[in-house]
Amino acid sequence: MSDLRPSRYAIHSDSVYAGSTGQRLRLVYGTRRAVTLALTEETADQLKSGHVPTADPQLLQRLLDVELVVPTDDELHALVTRSRDSAHTDALRTFTLMPTSYCNMGCTYCGQEHTKGRLPANHRDAIASRVQRAITADVTQSVRVRWFGAEPMMGYAVLRDLSRRFVDAADRAGVDYQASMVTNGSLLTLRKLRQLLHDARVNKLCITLDGPERIHDRSRILKSGGVSFTRITTLLTEALADEELADLSFELRTNVTTANAEHIEEYLHQMAAMGFAHPRVLFSLEPVHSWSNDVSDVALSSEVYAEREIGWLATMMSLGLNFMIVPTASKPLVCGAVSTNSEIISSTGSIFSCSEQPLVPESEATQALAHITEIDLAARRPEGPFHDWHDQIEGRSVPCAGCPMLGVCGGSCPKLWSEGISPCPSYKYNFQQRLALVARKYQLTPVA
Ligand code: SF4
Ligand code: SF4
Repeated sequence: MSDLRPSRYAIHSDSVYAGSTGQRLRLVYGTRRAVTLALTEETADQLKSGHVPTADPQLLQRLLDVELVVPTDDELHALVTRSRDSAHTDALRTFTLMPTSYCNMGCTYCGQEHTKGRLPANHRDAIASRVQRAITADVTQSVRVRWFGAEPMMGYAVLRDLSRRFVDAADRAGVDYQASMVTNGSLLTLRKLRQLLHDARVNKLCITLDGPERIHDRSRILKSGGVSFTRITTLLTEALADEELADLSFELRTNVTTANAEHIEEYLHQMAAMGFAHPRVLFSLEPVHSWSNDVSDVALSSEVYAEREIGWLATMMSLGLNFMIVPTASKPLVCGAVSTNSEIISSTGSIFSCSEQPLVPESEATQALAHITEIDLAARRPEGPFHDWHDQIEGRSVPCAGCPMLGVCGGSCPKLWSEGISPCPSYKYNFQQRLALVARKYQLTPVA
């Protein structure tokens, strides 16, 4: 078909697998829709050589549906247009809110500066008015609030007060409202989890655990001198057994450094033994990256990290822990920094576009786009430094335009690119091995 062609945003497995009826199969992953198909070697080879398989109309329709076959128009332009449209979607407003400037931990790799003190009352009211105005705007259908650092639970009273106002406004306006929280987990209790879920509509918590107990407790140091691993994991166990919390899910994030890389295997086994191979617990391992601070002496290189990571992912699979083998959703919007429908309001009252700017002293001094007490209530935040991101991709000033991962990666992080740091996710470096894990999951056997 002359008006169709295979998508260039596709990865073919190097390995061939035996199908149940003896056919030779390759896995083909399309990044435009984040879908993996097992195709006959013949079909995969046709796609790879630029030909559209037309003999089987049902197969062709499937390939069109998952965008492994696409119109011959400029494919990069189509992807960037989808991304621009997503950035301009007024129906969804996203707010990242920091109810306090203080954190009760002092992790060595953190680039934020924490000071004691809650949100001033006039800031709190200004935030409430701004979010409520967004909720009640005619075009708004959904509002997402992400409670974020320092440590949001240090500002729990503020979080509860603001949430009550947001939830009331959303219910009255018939707007879909959901919240999530990034937390160190040390201040959570079962009672607070129930309040967070039922009153504040926080249905997802991202908690950082930096390794097995002794490693986590050494890395995530409480300013009081105490430790947190046992407290957090005990609470998680109780939460997973609590029927009232059935709608609450957990992401357990591990920041991988040279200091804990040797202990990740032990951590995964410890977590599995504690019963965290559970559908509501997602494990994510992330290499530490620069956050306006120098982490070069504790960060693993991308290639070394990717190689080590495959071993950890295989262990997780053997242990039944949940993790992302390959991305399961496309990423039309790289991040909120490129959309004025998304904003971060620091505990200082400053409004930012990028979540790594608040509480970083230099960014607080130079990168704030507006102040909560001064911006017009109905106005979107001003455009931030990464607003030209789509032009950068189309203008090829970043290498993402030619990268087959663009559909699921989106370019990863405009801020890091602007600092000359390549932010490519680890799966770029180990995708073939990840496809082998997908094959293992579906019990496909490699053939010579
Ligand atoms: S630019 Fe990078 S650091 Fe900033 S919000 Fe986007 S992904 Fe996060
Ligand atoms: S950040 Fe890296 S992996 Fe992602 S699209 Fe750009 S070049 Fe590709």
